[in-house]
Amino acid sequence: MSITLQDPSLLQSQAYINGQWVDADSGETFSVTNPANGEHLADVASVGAAETRRAIEAAEVAMQSWKAQPAKTRANVLRRWFELIMANQEDLALLMTLEQGKVLAESRGEIAYGASFVEWFGEEAKRVYGDVIPAQNDRRSIVIKQPVGVVAAITPWNFPNAMISRKVAPALAVGCAIVVKPAAETPLSALAMAVLAERAGVPAGLFSVLPGTDAPAIGGEMTSNPTVKKVTFTGSTPVGKLLMKQSADTVKRTSMELGGNAPVIVLDDADLDAAVAGSIAAKYRNSGQTCICANRILVQSSVYDAFVEKFTAKVNEFRLGNGLDAESTHGPLITTKAVRNVQSLVDDAVAKGARVETGGQVDALGDHFYQPTVLSNVVPGMRVAREEIFGPVAPIFRFDTEAQAIEMANDTEFGLAAYVFTRDVGRVWRVSEGLDFGMVGVNEIALGSDATPFGGMKQSGQGREGSKYGLDDYLEVKFICMGGL
Ligand code: ADP
Repeated sequence: MSITLQDPSLLQSQAYINGQWVDADSGETFSVTNPANGEHLADVASVGAAETRRAIEAAEVAMQSWKAQPAKTRANVLRRWFELIMANQEDLALLMTLEQGKVLAESRGEIAYGASFVEWFGEEAKRVYGDVIPAQNDRRSIVIKQPVGVVAAITPWNFPNAMISRKVAPALAVGCAIVVKPAAETPLSALAMAVLAERAGVPAGLFSVLPGTDAPAIGGEMTSNPTVKKVTFTGSTPVGKLLMKQSADTVKRTSMELGGNAPVIVLDDADLDAAVAGSIAAKYRNSGQTCICANRILVQSSVYDAFVEKFTAKVNEFRLGNGLDAESTHGPLITTKAVRNVQSLVDDAVAKGARVETGGQVDALGDHFYQPTVLSNVVPGMRVAREEIFGPVAPIFRFDTEAQAIEMANDTEFGLAAYVFTRDVGRVWRVSEGLDFGMVGVNEIALGSDATPFGGMKQSGQGREGSKYGLDDYLEVKFICMGGL
């Protein structure tokens, strides 16, 4: 198909390395398709280790003058980039829906969300303070913060824009250079970001984009190259663990945003309509394909039946379809493999006694479309209790006491996001403090923002993105001890 953009130059299919648009050394390309209908969108350069090495070397050179600039100079470039992203929001959203599948309204939202990190970290660049430690003796002690060095980033397909800006913006803000490998499913959004970065005045070499299907080759170079000082990754827990192992040989710093298994706890005093609306939003955003999507909905026994009924009625109002269609509320899943995985989780739950309230099948629209599904009578022995679903399936569990809810919620190796619905301030504190998760939404599910820390505990990862804490991941602390005064 032909893609019609207001600004056709945003559609790029070459890699962007050291400020140049280039083909792969091998000449190889890979096909990018629309998950809603299988249409071919572009053939994109598929780079490997050699191109990755060149991008890393260029990054090291580029960052020497970049880190020496006044923070305000870097901030101004990021400001221009932010403004260009927002000025091109429609085109970027269209590209995203075409390659990723999410409905246009969500794509527009992601572009604004992604851009907010560029704005935020540009501003924060001016606020990288050090410390003067009160004298303990005849010496004086000073702490300064400096850029960590060349950063390598590997990003997923579920947020093709924001997972990149959330890493690139803080890196550039503090004076680092960064090379990015986007997911092979969604390289077009990443390459469009590079077009706008170049236009905003990001100097050559500071931000390279390395599309490709040989992830182990690109990731292998990123994690073994001694010039890279930090690896930042968003994706699955197994790949995150692998990258941490690979990074150990050169003792790189790592930030990991890995899988989740988010619980929603609905206590019996909650505003039930608000709890239903919040749980639905937390479950079905991006058709369930986010790491903070509700994976387990835990509802207190006395309100369980009413909750399931209201929840199912709302889900039955959804309109599955192509994300470009204004009537669609939910789009396709990214791959048929994802659809098969979701089906096998549902089949397992049903075989062990769960009840399908609605959905439960691949939709007649096509093999990438899974019906929004609600499962009741779900119990901890089912696979949905332990595994990340990453699809539009809501398993609803029952609990009796607050203590039991906290125990069930924490019974997972993951610890990214959790949600609780209650109007009792004592419960708010007890449950929030008792949950082993990096983020807790209380009567609220919108957790991501430029100004607040995003990240997980346990096997959901390490490090925080966004907020003042997000800068720390890209900074080294240097102690300067002054004697002989
Ligand atoms: P998902 O299952 O959601 O696609 P992955 O963790 O497999 O999650 O993918 C996230 C990112 O990690 C993608 O950019 C993917 O290409 C990349 N990736 C997958 N395997 C490896 C690997 N062995 N080394 C480096 N990157 C990898």
